[in-house]
Amino acid sequence: MSNAPHPLVDRARRLAAEVLAPHAERVDREGLPAGHVAAVKRSGLLGASAPVAHGGTAAPAAVRREIAEILAGACCSTWFLETQHHTPVRLLSEAPAPVRDRLLRPLAEGELLAGVAYAHLRAHPRVRVRASRARGGWRFEGRVPWYTGWGLNDVMLLAGVTDDGEALFAAVEAREQTGLRPSPPMRLAALTATRTVSVELTGLKVPDDAVVLCLPYERWAAADRPRNTNAAPAVFGIARAALGVLEECGDQDAARTARALRTRLDRVRRQAYALADHPVPHEHVAERLALKTRAYDLMRAATTAAVVAGGGRSLDLGSRAQRLAREGLFLLVQGQTANVREAHLGSLGHPGP
Ligand SMILES: Cc1cc2nc3c(=O)[nH]c(=O)nc-3n(C[C@H](O)[C@H](O)[C@H](O)COP(=O)(O)OP(=O)(O)OC[C@H]3O[C@@H](n4cnc5c(N)ncnc54)[C@H](O)[C@@H]3O)c2cc1C
Repeated sequence: MSNAPHPLVDRARRLAAEVLAPHAERVDREGLPAGHVAAVKRSGLLGASAPVAHGGTAAPAAVRREIAEILAGACCSTWFLETQHHTPVRLLSEAPAPVRDRLLRPLAEGELLAGVAYAHLRAHPRVRVRASRARGGWRFEGRVPWYTGWGLNDVMLLAGVTDDGEALFAAVEAREQTGLRPSPPMRLAALTATRTVSVELTGLKVPDDAVVLCLPYERWAAADRPRNTNAAPAVFGIARAALGVLEECGDQDAARTARALRTRLDRVRRQAYALADHPVPHEHVAERLALKTRAYDLMRAATTAAVVAGGGRSLDLGSRAQRLAREGLFLLVQGQTANVREAHLGSLGHPGP
């Protein structure tokens, strides 16, 4: 059996080394340039989760995790823009033929880049985006609190809840149009570079043939709930990048700390990925959440150690350590659900060693 890395992992490494890592601090301060988006589109990575029959590579989950670690560790903003794309691709693979045949291949081949506007479904009915029946399609109303990639991506996977209590996902052109207006890009503690906006929907019309998925809300929620209980590869990517900063410091204290953290991180990563590969996603939830929390702890320790090792110059906006620490903060809330929030707060409230 060959030990050569999967070709997509190779491509991710090249993209990370040649484009992402060398410019990550500048991108963090100034925003994602068009050149980064073009490089991601050209990379072949956008088809990683798409079926081969539709122009994708259908790469195994372990390969997709490794790609996410590599990209997130090199430039979290570029990774986050890239990773949004895979949910629309996944849903389109199972979608009705008209929308699938129109969009799946261009998305898989990197001609188009997609973003998502669906996290608000997890806060339904507190946060309402309503999809009501209109002639030949649907009318969307409400406020989408988060949409990453405005002006950078091409297709928005927009979700709302119908009057009959169904979760409805549709593919919409990601541009200002009648019934869809973005806020100015948000200024955030991290990932400002990703042009994240909120979106006001005031009667946006979406034709029936743009509907990607429609199913009872409870059925969607039951399938979605376990998804985020697994530790995210990006957390390991940021943690490993921070350990790299420590190792490059050239002093023994930093190197010793890096070694100790790496051993613990590798163990948690192995256990977390073994559970992520478990065939029943709603089993072992407490264990999954415990490992997720442990991964957060180790990421926080690694990024903090990188800041400490660098001293005052770590606070320079050009330093890798402070960027990784702020990106780590973002990962603590990315994709947060009620049970993740509860488990994380619970573990933070326990007395330390
Ligand atoms: C920079 C950035 C970019 C993002 N980009 C996107 C994007 O492109 N697309 C997208 O869909 N999402 C995006 N998100 C949303 C993100 O994925 C998370 O869903 C989000 O951070 C968590 O939701 P929220 O902060 O809006 O909190 P909420 O929706 O308010 O809460 C999150 C979860 O915690 C629960 N919760 C909240 N408060 C309580 C409480 N007091 N007690 C019990 N449970 C509670 C909620 O029910 C919900 O399940 C982005 C977030 C950030 C920070």
